[in-house]
Amino acid sequence: MHCWPAPVVPEATERQPGFMAPNLSPKGLRLLPHELADGVYALMANQLPKDNNGLVVGTRAALVIDAGITPGVGRYLLGVARELTDRPIRYLANTTYHGDHTFGNVAFGDDVAVVSSRLNKAAMTDLEAEKRMRSESMYGDPGMEEVVTWREPDVVFDRFCEIDLGGRVVHLWHFGSGNGSGDTLVHVPDARVAWVGNFLRRAGMPPMLLAGDPIGYTRSIRAMKATLELDRFVPGHGPLSDAEPSVSWMLAYLEDLAAGVDQRLRQGVPLEDLYGAIPLRDPLRLPPETPGADRFPALMQSLHELNILLAYRYLTKIGSSGERLG
Ligand SMILES: [Zn+2]
Repeated sequence: MHCWPAPVVPEATERQPGFMAPNLSPKGLRLLPHELADGVYALMANQLPKDNNGLVVGTRAALVIDAGITPGVGRYLLGVARELTDRPIRYLANTTYHGDHTFGNVAFGDDVAVVSSRLNKAAMTDLEAEKRMRSESMYGDPGMEEVVTWREPDVVFDRFCEIDLGGRVVHLWHFGSGNGSGDTLVHVPDARVAWVGNFLRRAGMPPMLLAGDPIGYTRSIRAMKATLELDRFVPGHGPLSDAEPSVSWMLAYLEDLAAGVDQRLRQGVPLEDLYGAIPLRDPLRLPPETPGADRFPALMQSLHELNILLAYRYLTKIGSSGERLG
């Protein structure tokens, strides 16, 4: 018998017509270190929206955040981390179970403890299905062929986990369902910075509503806001972000989305008419010289339309009512 506070929410696999997958292929990927505080490094992908990573160094041990989309990316990431510190890498945190954050786990040795939320681990059940989901983001790169095992977390937690690296403490949090049901944040309290995986993004970049529930997502964000001392965060995808404007944008985005879809659902507007009826407000605009900038507006619109579809499915399922969101 297993009695747990909550089960995994299966993520939506439906996509709207014309959905554009983000390009997360390892081709051309470079992780550029950005020192946020002494021994606290954002490892930022040189091309948007490929996966960002992180490294936190203490006097005794170091911790890496997320592992890349293939074992090859994991090995490259380890090399980048070893250039930055001679402390032994003893911990690897996974912010989500998604393959672009976990397929590289196998590159880390047995002396490295992989840590994540219980719900992230519980979602790691079907490697072939996950490989199929992520293949659409590889854009022809053959690296997925190298993914033959899915290394699961060795240590899991429900709400909170503290790791002492020596002279520096790292906190792992799960605030409830967001992008997925197990979203994990890695907070470095003394640096007032967190790695947030897919839970948050820079203002103007829509999340992916894969767990379906836009209102539950806002509750999780508010719980985070009430708990963490945060000046900046490193998202799983996209640029480094000041916390306040991005958290505010995200809450407004999810509330507008839920209210907009709910209202039209009650009016009987068909799904195909919703995509054009709810605009993406204040999308992030990149300087044209940024690698990946050419496809970026279409990608943001595509993520927004996906959220309209998934909010529509969710609100249809739970039954639309005027009072609920009003
Ligand atoms: Zn991702």
